[in-house]
This record gives sequence, C-alpha cells and structure tokens, in this order.
Amino acid sequence: MSTIDGLPPLREVIARHDLRAKKQLGQNFLLDLNLTAKIARAAGDLRGCDVIEVGPGPGGLTRGLLAEGARRVLAIEKDERALPALAEIAEAYPERLQVILGDALEVDPLAHLTPPIRIVANLPYNVGTELLIRWLTPSQWPPFWQSLTLMFQKEVAERIVAKPGGKAYGRLAVLAQWRSDARIVMTLPPEAFVPAPKIHSAVVHLTALPEPRFPADPAVLNRVVAAGFNQRRKMLRASLKGLHPQIEELLLAAGIQPTARAEEIGLEHFCALAQQLAAAPR
Ligand code: SAM
Repeated sequence: MSTIDGLPPLREVIARHDLRAKKQLGQNFLLDLNLTAKIARAAGDLRGCDVIEVGPGPGGLTRGLLAEGARRVLAIEKDERALPALAEIAEAYPERLQVILGDALEVDPLAHLTPPIRIVANLPYNVGTELLIRWLTPSQWPPFWQSLTLMFQKEVAERIVAKPGGKAYGRLAVLAQWRSDARIVMTLPPEAFVPAPKIHSAVVHLTALPEPRFPADPAVLNRVVAAGFNQRRKMLRASLKGLHPQIEELLLAAGIQPTARAEEIGLEHFCALAQQLAAAPR
C-alpha cells in the first residue's frame, strides 16, 4: 500500500520493529497519516520553522510535520525501541530530522534550533501538562516558542481554554490565557489511537502573545491563582488570607468583591490583584 510520503504504512513499521505499545510510557499511537498531517497543519505554516516534537514514537506525527514542510524537526523520544523506525524517516528527509534519545522533562533542545520555533506533541497526558506549565512560565516573555500544538485528554484541553464561571476554569486557564491565545482545534475519539485509550482527546493550539494581556508579576500572579483555586469553594477573602494581612482592602482596590470565589474572577482582575499585592507594603 502506498502512503502520502512513500514510506511504509505505520502498521507495517510497528510490526517490523516490534513496537508494541507500552502502557508505562503512555503509548497510544496515531496510525492514520492523513490525520497526523491534519494535526501538523493545525500547528500553522511550518515552512521556515524549526519544530520540536516530543514523543515521536513510531513517527506518524513526525512524518506529518515533515510532509507539511517543517524546515527541521528535532524529536525527543524516551523509548529507544523507536530509534530504528525514526532513522528510516531521517533517511527519507535528509538533514531535516534529528532525534534525541531522552526524557523531554530533562533534555534542553534549544541549543540545536533556530527561531522561529514551534512545538508539537502527542504525549502522555501527565508529561504534557507538566511541560505545558514549564513552557508557559519561562523567566522571560516572549518565550522561545511561537506556538504549541499539543494533544491532551479532552477534559484537560477544556481546562486550558475555559472561561470564568465554571468548574473547568482554574490555574491552567489563567496561566495559558494570560500570555497566549489558546483554542481547541480538533477533538479525537478513542478509536483514533492504537491501542484506544478510554477517553476522548483534543488538540490545543496556543500562540504566544508578544506581551501579556494585562501587566502583572508572574510569580505574584501565580501565588494568587494557586491560593485562590486551591480552595476554590472558599470566598477569596478567606482563600487569599495568607497572602497579605489587608487582603480585603487589596481585593476591593483591584475591583474584586472579597466575597467572590476564584472561579468567578477573570484574568484582568487577577492581574490587578497581583499588581496591588506587589505594590502593598507589608
Ligand atoms: N507521537 C506518536 C504518535 O502520535 O503516534 C506517539 C504518541 S504516544 C501517545 C507518546 C510517546 O511519547 C511515546 O512514543 C512515548 O515513548 C513517548 N514518551 C513518553 N514519555 C516521554 C518523555 N518523558 N520524554 C519523551 N518521550 C516520552
């Protein structure tokens, strides 16, 4: 059977290299190359971009990224069993695919790349959330990346794009939306993966804003949001009590009712409160 890139179908690749999915590595593979090309297109125009792919596995999404024109793909994979399959792709796309064997939570890919840089990944969900938080909270903004296109459990994707007023709205929404545009660009049923997970998945695309939507010190904002949502059923005057002795006055000065709960508060007001806290003498 021929494929969009002339390389063998993924089922054959997986069988030939004996890449049986390992649960402990969160392996649920995408085998449909039309679907992986569609995910690659959701990452934006890849021509002229270096792409970091985390967790390429047998290379379905990697092939999509390369076929869609990525200048270079730097792929970080923890499972060495995937290396021979990825080497075949590197051979078909000379000078365009580099694979690093390692844990994405430990590898620093930056030394190898030239901006603009986009990040694309279909990762185990726990690793994905941890990396997302790291990418959203760098010491400098704008960050090194232009966009993130990441597969998540649908419920986590909904938390990233949530607006105030519901259960899904929390720290992840505030961190993601304060300095980026975040939207769900695709949802996928369990059957899109082999083996099929129990849950639906969704691809979230985040574009870094040149500047935060509202001014705030990142560390103070993070403290406010963590305290507010850790006790989300409490009124803010109680959940934020530990942040400042005059928290009620600071809340009012930021335009927030002290009796409100964190999930009712939009970005602008969280940032205003962070500004008040940063300026308030203790
Ligand atoms: N991208 C492939 C696809 O879409 O078919 C594989 C996706 S599978 C959900 C997740 C991949 O991430 C696996 O290949 C797994 O070995 C790899 N992986 C898991 N933890 C990792 C980590 N900490 N660093 C790098 N890769 C990891």
